[in-house]
Amino acid sequence: MTRIALACVSGLLLLTVALFQPSAAQTAAQSPSRRPAGTEHQGKAFRFNKVKDGVYHVVGTGNLAVVGNSSVIVNDNDVIVVDDHVSPAAAWVLLDEIKSITDKPVRTVINTHFHFDHAHGNQVFGAGVEIIGHEFTRDMLLKGNPLQMPLYKNYVEGLPRQIDDLRKRVAAEADATRKASLQVQLQAAENNRLSQAELKPTPPNVTLRTQMTLHRGDRDIQIRFLGRAHTAGDVVVYLPKEKVVMTGDFLTAALSNMSDAFVNEWPATLDELKKLDFDVVLPGHGEAFTDKAKIEYFQAYLRDVWSQVSRFKQQGVSADDAAMRADLTKHKEHFPSIQGPGVPIIAVTRIYELLDRGLAR
Ligand SMILES: [Zn+2]
Repeated sequence: MTRIALACVSGLLLLTVALFQPSAAQTAAQSPSRRPAGTEHQGKAFRFNKVKDGVYHVVGTGNLAVVGNSSVIVNDNDVIVVDDHVSPAAAWVLLDEIKSITDKPVRTVINTHFHFDHAHGNQVFGAGVEIIGHEFTRDMLLKGNPLQMPLYKNYVEGLPRQIDDLRKRVAAEADATRKASLQVQLQAAENNRLSQAELKPTPPNVTLRTQMTLHRGDRDIQIRFLGRAHTAGDVVVYLPKEKVVMTGDFLTAALSNMSDAFVNEWPATLDELKKLDFDVVLPGHGEAFTDKAKIEYFQAYLRDVWSQVSRFKQQGVSADDAAMRADLTKHKEHFPSIQGPGVPIIAVTRIYELLDRGLAR
């Protein structure tokens, strides 16, 4: 037999094997790793809010600790999940509840950024599932010591106190309805603690630097890095035909955390978002919204925080004092969480750090 004929026969054999055995991706995608600790909860953990055909904004009900939102895109043959919540347990339950909207397998996950409330479910997806994120997101989850990051450490170290507090409140509550609701919060916090103990930060296994597009039937799913903003590697997921954009914490329904932000560059990066043609935003926190004016409000807030805090720094004011004195109350009409003067110390520390590192421009 000639070498070419041999190659054909072995090629045919390979093809046959490929045709009759489920691919590793299929198996892994359909059966995620064993059930993690801390998945127990009552009722549903998620609301699947249908935004367009096959496009869902997924928001926690409070029955399980999930923290951030995810989005789910159901295509002809597969499912894409954008962000996977705060723990392996939350991501595992998400996969379970996705079965109520489709029996197609999740083959792709996109991390909008590296923060714990968006990427700490990554480990439950099998080896055949592509986890896509910016190169920076991979670096942070791989080499950035994510378990020691102050943002995450503060969160996890606060859980025992939160649990103690809830236990006391459950014991003291006389009203049956309020007691039941506190009990649900307590169970969610306890299960979250169990799941955090099993956490193994898992980085994206496919990365991009500026843009990539997934093609699924006649749907295009664009993953775009628009510039530094909430972190150095946030991406948005944009569906041009459906006119939907998933923004993670780059643009939420309220204010975003600034611990890793490029506060001074963020407004210009939001200008890039405005250039996309969309009519609904699916944010990483809060409900979906259509009002594009929110982008302007948030830009104005960011510019104001930056200018006030940098002025305090120039005047030699300590970060603690600046955090108390910065006054953003004029933005409270659009951001009701602003109760009075003062901004989170984490935002001030970050702005001071950017100025010290000469990253202001
Ligand atoms: Zn978040």
